Formats: sequence, structure tokens, C-alpha cells
Amino acid sequence: MSSLTDLTLAQARAGLDSKKFSARELVDAHIDAVEKADALNAFTQTTPHLARAQAEESDKRIAAGEARLLEGMPLAIKDLFCTDGIETTASSNILKGFKPPYESTVTANLWAAGANMLGKTSMDEFAMGSSNETAATGSVISPWRREGSNAALVPGGSSGGSASAVAAGLALGGTGTDTGGSIRQPAAFTGTVGVKATYGRCSRWGVVAFASSLDHPGPIGKSVEDCAMMLQAMASFDPKDSTSLNVETPDFSAACKRSIKGLKIGVPKEYRVDGMPPEIEKLWEEGRAWLKDAGCELVDVSLPHTKYALPAYYIIAPAEASSNLARYDGMRFGLRVDGADLTDTYEQTRAAGFGPEVQRRLMIGAYVLSAGYYDAYYLRAQKVRRRIRGDFDEVFQSVDALLTPTAPSAAFAIGEKAGDPVTMYLNDIFTVTANLAGVPAMSVPAGLDGQGLPLGLQVVAPALQEEKMFAVGAALEKAAGFTAKPEAWWAV
Ligand code: GLN
Repeated sequence: MSSLTDLTLAQARAGLDSKKFSARELVDAHIDAVEKADALNAFTQTTPHLARAQAEESDKRIAAGEARLLEGMPLAIKDLFCTDGIETTASSNILKGFKPPYESTVTANLWAAGANMLGKTSMDEFAMGSSNETAATGSVISPWRREGSNAALVPGGSSGGSASAVAAGLALGGTGTDTGGSIRQPAAFTGTVGVKATYGRCSRWGVVAFASSLDHPGPIGKSVEDCAMMLQAMASFDPKDSTSLNVETPDFSAACKRSIKGLKIGVPKEYRVDGMPPEIEKLWEEGRAWLKDAGCELVDVSLPHTKYALPAYYIIAPAEASSNLARYDGMRFGLRVDGADLTDTYEQTRAAGFGPEVQRRLMIGAYVLSAGYYDAYYLRAQKVRRRIRGDFDEVFQSVDALLTPTAPSAAFAIGEKAGDPVTMYLNDIFTVTANLAGVPAMSVPAGLDGQGLPLGLQVVAPALQEEKMFAVGAALEKAAGFTAKPEAWWAV
């Protein structure tokens, strides 16, 4: 039955419809794979009973000829999405034991489309990180290893649990959230596809907030088409999220089959950074050649404010986080450490409940928002953000999409960057801009580095033009022909 876990989501859907196997068989194969993969530490908890019950319901639907878009698809859900009655922790001790009395809109949409939940996946605490080393339940391990080495590598972050699960064939797809790159960077590190749609396309309701103006839920999958199908189900207008867009959801799967002939693709010169491995430069060049062969016109463009994106992000995101995370005071959710009085209880709860990276961000956030520094930091960062959006507006007057590398390196080893926050923050150099501008972006696995690790290329499109992004992404995927898979060392 193990071959069922090698299928893409689209193949599995077709297999169910043609009755090659049942949804119950499909989910059992994935539950079995999850149970054997403890070494990856990808899940904070598994929900096999729920997955089986949902799959049985799917089998009934299929028998009745009423299959929905994601009928019977076993998915891994990032532990940032509130799931009704099922513990949701954001991989933080402060939310330990929190069972939301409601379901996030995005996961509700997935279940309404027929998908089933294998479990909740581990992440950097409160989605703050790029390596999955800050989770309260310990680091997630990438299924990939460097050639000839057993060193444990990071899966990227913060949606590293979902990325690791999808890359290892534990789930047909997964959900992630992307505030500065947390879907795209782990996708690049694990040889999977990761998509962040336009800001407001997927509802944030019921997703534990990190930085509300930057948070984007989205899918991680084995192929561009799989992500198109998942995003189709996840996207919706939601009156419960005041920033949700009241727009039609286009047919993303159809967009994957569109010709890209005649499209103009911009190559931003600011994304050529010092110290980037030559393999990434080479892959980017290959990507340009592939798109040219497919009939695109490649154009050199400039996004002049790119160099300010990372500093602006690391002011705005912590500022919003310090406001959003103020609600964890020991009164309403999860952990409470009783102190001498109310203030002491707040302080002790927060000191015990938040890990060091979250505490660092909360302190930065409180500082940049404080009366004496607000204008110098927060206000200025907002102005920079406006400029960055302006760069994209300007460049999309003349090109249809942009092509860049997703991350400045391949996956690194556990512990390699954990001691130096700034080196860690530099991982997001190519991804934060799309969050600051709110435009759709995706990572497509496009090649391997010299040590056999996956590398991704990023496609960025104008707001609400995900169809162009999917068309270009699918063309890249086809040209790259990325079929490498990690060796299953974890399966016991
Ligand atoms: N790595 C970035 C950070 O640490 C982005 C995280 C995210 O997208 N959630 O903030």
C-alpha cells in the first residue's frame, strides 16, 4: 500500500474517482506512514480517528457520485489553524491545552471540500522563525540529508512540519501560513511547492495571529496543480475577517494549463545578493532560459527599495506581534502561572510560556511602538513598506510576473544558525517583499545543489493575478522536471 503515499493529490483524486482504491485505504496508508515517521517530529499531535471517520464519509460520497474537490484527501494542518475541540498550540507552551471552540475558516473550507485531517503540524513558535527550531515540541527534521552525511537538517520554517510531512509522503498536502516566507522557504528547502496568495484571498479568521497585516494562509503540496486545487478550496470571502477580499475565486487548476507564450517576466537585479551560492545563481539563470524557451520575454527590472525590506519587516512584524500576543495573559487561554498578584501572574505566565525568540520579538515590538521611538522606527518602517509596494506597482506596469530564487541558501543543519538571529533573519531576504506588498508568490522546486539538496525558484505576480503565477509556476515545474525524493531513512 506504500505506493499510495507516492501519489500526488491530483493523482489520488483521480484514483478515488476511478475506484482504484478507497478513501479509507488512502488514509490508512498515510496514517501508517505518519506512525513510522516519529524521527521527523513533524506533528504536534495526530488525529487518526478523525481522519478515518472523514475518509469513510468520503467513501460514501464517492459511492453516491457526490465527490467534492478534495474528497478523501489526507492533509497535514499547521498548528496555527484553530481546529474545533482539537488542541491548537502554535507550538508554544503558553497555548498548551488550548482547545478552540471553533474552526478556522480555511480548515472549515478544506473539510467542506472533502479533505481529512491527519493531524496538526509543528512550527516555529507563533510562526516566528525560518528553521522550526523554536517549537515547544522540539525541532522538526527535514527528510532530506546532504549526500554522504547523516547530519540532521532543518526543513525551513515556520511551516516546517507541514513541509516535512508533505516531502516525506506522510500527507498529500498541507496548510501553512506565510508572514515573511514561512510557506515558500520551507517549500524550497524540502523540494515541495508552496503558495502564498494575494493578501485577503484566504481568510485569517481562526488562524492564531502573528502579524495581521502580513499573515497569509496557503497550501504546501507535491506539485503546482496540487497547490492550485488546495488553494481553490481554501480561498473564500469571509465577513469574519475584515481584510478578507470579496472577490470571485478563479479556476486555479485551469490556470496551470495556460500557455505562457508572450508573457513578460521581470528579473529584479536587487535579488542578486553577495554571498549567494553559485548554484542558486545558476538555477536562476536556468529558470530564465526555461521561461524563454516557453515563449516568455525576459526583462531586467529594478525594485529599488528591496534592501530596506528586511529591516522594515523586522520592525513591522514584531510590532504587530507585540500587540497580538498581548492577549496571552494567563486568563483566557492555555498556561497560567499563579503569582503574588495579578501583575505578577501576567509576568510569570508570559515568562514561562513564551520561548526566547518570541520574547525577543515582543521586546522589539514594544520598543518600536513606544512613545519615544514610534516615529523613528514604526512610522518610518510603514513608509518604507509603502515604497516597496510602490516598487511592485511600478514594475507590474511593464511585466506580468517576476522570477527570483526563493531563498539565499539550501537547507542548513540543525543548530547551524540558531545562535545568531540576524543570520536567521537573512533567510527571508527574497520572500518578505511579497508579504509587505501583499502580492501572490510561490516557490517551485527547480533543482538540487552540489550536496543533493533541493532549491526553489520563486514566481511573484501582481495582486489578484494568481492565475499568471500558477501558469508560470506550472511551466517552470514542467521544464525543471524535478523528481528527486529523499531516501526514506526515517521509516521504521
Ligand atoms: N522567518 C520569518 C520570521 O521569522 C517569517 C516567518 C513567517 O512567515 N511566519 O518572521
